[in-house]
Amino acid sequence: MATNRTFTMIKPDAVADNHIGGILSMIEQGGFRIVELQKVTLTPERAGEFYAVHKERPFYNDLVKYMSSGPIVAAILEKDNAVADFRTLIGATNPANAEEGTIRKKYAKSIEANAVHGSDSDENAQIEGEFYFKSQI
Ligand code: GDP
Ligand code: MG
Repeated sequence: MATNRTFTMIKPDAVADNHIGGILSMIEQGGFRIVELQKVTLTPERAGEFYAVHKERPFYNDLVKYMSSGPIVAAILEKDNAVADFRTLIGATNPANAEEGTIRKKYAKSIEANAVHGSDSDENAQIEGEFYFKSQI
């Protein structure tokens, strides 16, 4: 397994607000190479499967509804120390706590509609990348 890759999604609110270009630009400026890229709309079933790890959390049903509400952009990214560096680039889950210069600080609207996803481990990057691309991560 490569450890220099991570997985991201640009979430429905950011896609709807025409921020695909701005976010991909921040990703590239942050030193990441875009290895795979796909725009797709998740069914509620697929969104529920992706976030199955959160199914006991109180916001799960809202999250599934939100993530299937419109198109998302999924991507595999490459960079040294990709998982940790990408989490730094996106910022805190709640944009109220996100650092200046992060993607969520610039584009997130709320703790739920927070513009982007970033994998939290090499293992999850692999699983999440395969969920969309069935290929190498
Ligand atoms: P992340 O790894 O920073 O994306 O955060 P988590 O893995 O904890 O949560 C997954 C996603 O669920 C977040 O990115 C948000 O879209 C959503 N989420 C997290 N916490 C909350 C919450 O307290 N309320 C709501 N409505 N959504 C949340
Ligand atoms: Mg997470």
